[in-house]
Amino acid sequence: MSADSASDQIHYDVIILGKGPAGLQAAVHASRAKARVAVLGRIARSSLHKAHVENYCCMGSVMSGEQMLAQGRSQAEGFGAGFMETDVVELSELPEPGAGGRFAVTVESGETLFCHALILAMGISRNRLNIPGEKALLGKGVSYCVDCDGNFYRGEPVAVAGNGSAAATGALTLLMIANEVHLIYRDLEVDERLKEQVEASGIIAHPGRWPSAIHGQDGVERLTLDDGAEIAVKGVFIELGAKGALEIATRLGVAMDQEDIRFIGVDRRQRTSVDGVFAAGDICGPPWQMAKAIGEGCVAGLAAAEFVRKAKGVK
Ligand SMILES: Cc1cc2nc3c(=O)[nH]c(=O)nc-3n(C[C@H](O)[C@H](O)[C@H](O)COP(=O)(O)OP(=O)(O)OC[C@H]3O[C@@H](n4cnc5c(N)ncnc54)[C@H](O)[C@@H]3O)c2cc1C
Repeated sequence: MSADSASDQIHYDVIILGKGPAGLQAAVHASRAKARVAVLGRIARSSLHKAHVENYCCMGSVMSGEQMLAQGRSQAEGFGAGFMETDVVELSELPEPGAGGRFAVTVESGETLFCHALILAMGISRNRLNIPGEKALLGKGVSYCVDCDGNFYRGEPVAVAGNGSAAATGALTLLMIANEVHLIYRDLEVDERLKEQVEASGIIAHPGRWPSAIHGQDGVERLTLDDGAEIAVKGVFIELGAKGALEIATRLGVAMDQEDIRFIGVDRRQRTSVDGVFAAGDICGPPWQMAKAIGEGCVAGLAAAEFVRKAKGVK
């Protein structure tokens, strides 16, 4: 299977969410263990992409994260993993797992893929705008989660800020709740079909603009953009990057870490609380280090491939 050929197929043994070091290492190990693997996400959104690494064992000199990720991808492709340049927007467990798989994975275009095992390697989101009013109005109109707080703004005007699938899908969700939805983005970096869906909807788009301040006393009253324009809104949703990793995971019923509920709980084989779902890397908690992500990715890749073999009754 070659690069981006994964989109021609819909059934996989293992689908990996994330193209950072955890996801790529999981892809290498699962593919070498003969699993049919698809890797989804975006390499440029890995935390490692802009890093310069000198603390990973056995390196001769400082290496660029971008270069390491490119090598990791071609290595995984060499072992047969397929790659798709898309975020996942929804995960669900099928009521009757069968020969076709146990999980349904919906991507930005609306297409659904199926697999026997999932590896969650979506990293962590560093999703603050860091603008005046954001901190003071958090919980009083400022939110980082459309799925959690959208309903509070029934019949009200709202704004969503972000360039990725989280913002686009969040704005579409809010269109069913709010009476006016503004989408503020510099450049919408999502699948063409999702872009078309946004354009054909009633969302008021503000391309090439970005929020500069949020105003209000006891609640959000208005938002200022970087060109000085003002929008009267009651809610501001900050949805930077991809569809929130934890939102996706918790909807599937995956339990959080008992000691720190910001992260996914896993055992020593990177198994989560849901059978067939594994997690690796930053999404499982600190330290935020490539070495940890790689190690966990290796364990998750092997454990997922073994899970699939058992599920299919292969020795
Ligand atoms: C500036 C900086 C410098 C750093 N320097 C070092 C260093 O020198 N040494 C070191 O060891 N570590 C360093 N780190 C930390 C290191 O980059 C991370 O620990 C590591 O990248 C974590 O890997 P990961 O695979 O868990 O997540 P990430 O590398 O963050 O990858 C996450 C992946 O998940 C994908 N994704 C997210 N949401 C979705 C979705 N909904 N659907 C599909 N895919 C999704 C993204 O597109 C991305 O491909 C640095 C981090 C930063 C930010």
